[in-house]
Amino acid sequence: MDQQKIDALRAQAVAPFSHLIDGKHVPASDGGTMDILSPIDGRVLTTTAKGTAADMEAAIASARAAFEDRRWAGQPPAARKKVLMKWADLIEENALELAVLGVRDNGTEIAMALKAEPGSAAGTIRYYAEALDKIYGEIAPTSSDILGMIQKEPVGVVGAIIPWNFPMMIGAWKLGPALAMGNSVVLKPSETASLSLMRMCDLALEAGLPPGVLNAVTGEGKIVGESMGLSMDVDVLVFTGSGGTGRRLMEYAARSNMKRVYLELGGKSPHIIFADAPDLDVAAKAVAGGIFRNSGQVCVAGSRLLVEASIHDDFVAAVAKATSGMNVGDPLNVDTAIGAVNSEVQLMQNLGFVETAQSEGGEVVTGGDRILQDTGGYYMAPTIVTGVTPDATLTQKEVFGPVLGVTPFNSDDEAVQIANATVYGLAGGVWTANLSRAHRMVRDVRTGVMHVNTYGGADGTVPLGGVGQSGNGSDKSLHAIEKYINLKTAWIKL
Ligand code: ADP
Repeated sequence: MDQQKIDALRAQAVAPFSHLIDGKHVPASDGGTMDILSPIDGRVLTTTAKGTAADMEAAIASARAAFEDRRWAGQPPAARKKVLMKWADLIEENALELAVLGVRDNGTEIAMALKAEPGSAAGTIRYYAEALDKIYGEIAPTSSDILGMIQKEPVGVVGAIIPWNFPMMIGAWKLGPALAMGNSVVLKPSETASLSLMRMCDLALEAGLPPGVLNAVTGEGKIVGESMGLSMDVDVLVFTGSGGTGRRLMEYAARSNMKRVYLELGGKSPHIIFADAPDLDVAAKAVAGGIFRNSGQVCVAGSRLLVEASIHDDFVAAVAKATSGMNVGDPLNVDTAIGAVNSEVQLMQNLGFVETAQSEGGEVVTGGDRILQDTGGYYMAPTIVTGVTPDATLTQKEVFGPVLGVTPFNSDDEAVQIANATVYGLAGGVWTANLSRAHRMVRDVRTGVMHVNTYGGADGTVPLGGVGQSGNGSDKSLHAIEKYINLKTAWIKL
């Protein structure tokens, strides 16, 4: 990474953003705009259109028209593939510019952002572009006077609501399979991190995606997100974000056209360390990285450390040492390990969780406070809290910040019991040199993904989806495609 190039990009003013509807950039119907604050220094970076319900309806109408006239779904697979491949190339060609813009908007450390944002987004788009002409229908084993065909059709208009932690990566997880299968999309980026994703959408048009196939509306969740959720003309809603919003989306669907709703929600992922871990120092670094990168604003963050009681004190000390080696600061500095918290609201919420943890008997081993306040930005010291009981708030509620709660256990059964004692089930990890124990943990800990002797980093070949109140349906891998197709049966008498 070239610091000089990054600094040159960060010095550039960011022009105001508007919606993308029917291939054109348009302002809000009432002219409204929103200030976008940079978490790096708390200053206004630019503005975006503050969408109205009418804007969302216009975007949905555009997507519907594009779907009905088959301007995209009707193209030969090879043509759709070419456009998506070109889009992936353009994302890669503009990777640094996109990543710096995204970091100025959401505060993720640039080293992580570059890899996880444009890098991953391009890879995802390419994966589904390559897949789209390898997906076949089926002939059913019917009696010989019948031809039973099972066809895979695009669903129609997909509404995608995206969070602020990894807008391009998560955006691509939805856009890649949705567009590959011939759907039209309306995107609703987060109000606190929309810029890089909006720019990425422009590149899709540059790559040759027909106007109207991909529309994007910025604005507040409770206005434009709600009107997307309540629309009679959106066929599928795909979402990554908080449980509260996920619950609302299900209500919107029930109150409107009963659209399919796929949710990737939060987690309270247990990171389980046995005394027989192959290398406890490596494990300690993975525990620190697993919660503190991107200031803990990662859906699969290992936010609960479950550690075998016999090594509790030494291991917590090792995690604290690994944490002290992670410098917090300017996310556009290539050496920064932990960038800024996305918003001041989020930062204050994080600090509130630490206070609650202390009031419930937890002990702050390191961190616990706001730092670098003189920058005007939103920074929090990575925080480790010991003495967190299985029923404590820090066990039960997702913080979505750099706060690690530590709970000791004495047996395999107790580890599983504590691990499963939340409403969530997104991710988890276990460190042990005992193969049988590792497999038992994979089997018994209720999650969508379980890591063994490593944490995070699962690539696009495997699904990511939660169980329990962490959601339903999967992003990534060929399995994600199921969300964006309908199965149609043709029952033909011969
Ligand atoms: P967080 O609290 O982490 O920001 P949210 O679930 O509020 O998570 O945000 C994720 C996405 O959901 C954002 O794009 C946001 O605008 C959107 N959103 C928030 N509230 C609603 C709502 N009532 N209806 C639809 N979308 C919403």
